[in-house]
Amino acid sequence: MMPSNWKNRPENGPCTGGCTLVMPERSESESRKLLRRLRDTLATPAKGQERLDRITHMIADSMRTDVCSIYLFRDETTLELCATEGLNPEAVHQTRMRLGEGLVGRVAKTSTPVNTGNAPAERGFRFMPETGEEIYSAFLGVPIQRLGERLGVLVVQSKQARQYSDDEVYALEVVAMVLAEMTELGAFIGEGEALSALHQQPVLIRGLTGQEGSAEGRVWLHEPRVVVANPVGDDPKKELKRLNKAVEELRLSVDAMMSGSEIVDKDHQQVLETYRMFANSRGWLRRMEEDIQRGLSAEAAVEKEQSTTRARLGQVPDPYLRERLHDLDDLSNRLLRILTGQGRDTGAAMPENPVLVARNIGPAELLEYGRKLKGVVLEEGSVGSHAAVVARALAIPLVIHAERITTEALNGDAILVDGDQGVVHLRPEDTVAGAFRDKIAMQAEAQSRYASLRELPATAACGTRVAMHMNAGLMADLPSLAGSGAEGVGLFRTELQFLLRSRVPRRGELAALYSRVLDSAKGKRVVFRTLDIGSDKVLPYMKPQDEPNPAMGWRAIRVGLDKPGVMRMQLQALIRAAAGRPLSVMFPFVAQMSEFEAARRVLLNEIERERRAGHVLPTSTEIGAMLETPSLAFAPRSFFELTDFVSIGGNDLKQFFFAADRENERVRRRYDTLDVSFLDFIGTIADRCAETNTPLSFCGEDAGRPIEALCLVAMGLRTLSMRPASIGPVKHLIRKVNLAELRSVIDEAREAGALTVRPAVMEWLARQPM
Ligand code: PEP
Ligand code: MG
Repeated sequence: MMPSNWKNRPENGPCTGGCTLVMPERSESESRKLLRRLRDTLATPAKGQERLDRITHMIADSMRTDVCSIYLFRDETTLELCATEGLNPEAVHQTRMRLGEGLVGRVAKTSTPVNTGNAPAERGFRFMPETGEEIYSAFLGVPIQRLGERLGVLVVQSKQARQYSDDEVYALEVVAMVLAEMTELGAFIGEGEALSALHQQPVLIRGLTGQEGSAEGRVWLHEPRVVVANPVGDDPKKELKRLNKAVEELRLSVDAMMSGSEIVDKDHQQVLETYRMFANSRGWLRRMEEDIQRGLSAEAAVEKEQSTTRARLGQVPDPYLRERLHDLDDLSNRLLRILTGQGRDTGAAMPENPVLVARNIGPAELLEYGRKLKGVVLEEGSVGSHAAVVARALAIPLVIHAERITTEALNGDAILVDGDQGVVHLRPEDTVAGAFRDKIAMQAEAQSRYASLRELPATAACGTRVAMHMNAGLMADLPSLAGSGAEGVGLFRTELQFLLRSRVPRRGELAALYSRVLDSAKGKRVVFRTLDIGSDKVLPYMKPQDEPNPAMGWRAIRVGLDKPGVMRMQLQALIRAAAGRPLSVMFPFVAQMSEFEAARRVLLNEIERERRAGHVLPTSTEIGAMLETPSLAFAPRSFFELTDFVSIGGNDLKQFFFAADRENERVRRRYDTLDVSFLDFIGTIADRCAETNTPLSFCGEDAGRPIEALCLVAMGLRTLSMRPASIGPVKHLIRKVNLAELRSVIDEAREAGALTVRPAVMEWLARQPM
């Protein structure tokens, strides 16, 4: 397990010539002496327990303390005394404490050292008679942690009431870091939970739903971990040189990245900013140089800094600062890859049924993996992120905010992704995997039952006919049109083609793509929604707008009208794609009739221009508006007469109706779609459209949720557009019920003063024959 080059190293002499730092003599010799002895101890073949015993003995001896103990986690919240020099040996593997309990628990919980000359007087001190520790006054405990993962606590104690010096604290921290590194490499595997190999236990991670669906597969890490096999440096001069060379290489690579593209990319700019902030501030570099002087190898010094960054990440609530810390973490990763020569491509073959695990991923990268992925699990991400949009378009189950997943998961680990519940089971027990498979089988069975409805209309028991359309955003979605039984594409989101490129796509490219979309639709209606950018959808090549409220800012049709160049180009592409066949276009985020009139005029002018140029025109043109702001519901009657159709963008409409940001986890589920006020509002919109015979559809996510869809239909909607997988379940339910009866249930609940009609609807549904 130990690298062979750990043995028989020459002893390090003090740093001479070429070292840029002047270290206090004692601290330098303390940490380096300790590290050298630790390296020798680790290099001697031994079982895990024996190694730990030797290490505690060695540290106590080296630091001339009475006690040295190592506590390791046996489960997420329990620490166990695993080795000791000085305390009662009988207490080993017997003494346990919970996270936060006693001084040891406090060190683990806060990830910071505790250093006191009078331990019994310290807040939280816990007397443990079995260890005989009451006679020790001085206590120094440091966390054993690796890249934000807590592994245990290393403690030294003395009878003498004294405070350990800063240099001693430092020396112990460096040793703890090496211990963490060796724990990761499996150097201390032995009997019992606390000495079991890391990352082998089943783990349940609760995140959030990014895209519904279930998947079973094997972990495929987007960024495989860098392994630091040799954390101790022999020759600080050599290690410093390596570090400086790697930092220079890093700087050149970041500069090249910046100058190599004329992209005004916010992310790239921030990487550069962060680079300048940290790499040039000297603070970052100096700390790593100091660590090397004190005995670490260059890569261990980088990782130590990275661990500190990760520990801070867990404690910083400010989103801006967190983002900067993430950038710094990325920079450290790059630096580690340069130092160790370990690239992203480890040569490992992608497992069958791969489930992608990443901290975050861009839409283009995700699309490159494509449909071969069975699922995606992200440590971060957001519901509206581009990656989520792509995962949704590819219908791949996605769990976001899966904390610690990148630390816990190893390539090839078994993994179950429950996109419905936002839960991930890593290395699941057989019973869990069995139950999960049953659930997948049940879902597959239900899907095949729905498949039998494919050719049947969504006609309710009362005879009301509902048109079922699907949402799409990629060419790859089109095959679902036949498979799902959708009558057409009610919403084709066109922004993905813009988001996935590093420049504005050309008109010819777009025309070709739209044309292929129409070809695949085989005459079924496809409603193209013009570019909806701004808010959460920021184009990499668009100058970022610093807006206090982007969701209510310069987005969608507002950008199109203010910068008509791109809108005109897109409309031309659509007109050319639809040559000789019908064209349906809708404009997003229309808040006022005048905006719709202006955009409509642009489209009609483009058609006229095409006609004059002698191009074949679409056989008919439908121009509609998305109703995504409450104001449009109160537009003049002439608006409803002018527009060829209205499509409710429920995701946006709901966020503005309730003033609850759809991207903000704290508030986005706070208000129910079946809230009486919202359903009333939907009813008002349906009535206004009915007055003018304006076709109305609903294309937000709620259209694909069976109960919500049912209530929307009861309120007057006759066309729903949803993700293809939802068509079966929604149609199945619609065909079972009498909508007029449901409407009276809703009306009665409303009259009885209910805030939401959900309980009444659920109760009524339970009484229906299914
Ligand atoms: C909506 O807002 O409901 C909608 C369909 O548009 P998007 O989700 O793309 O904003
Ligand atoms: Mg919208």
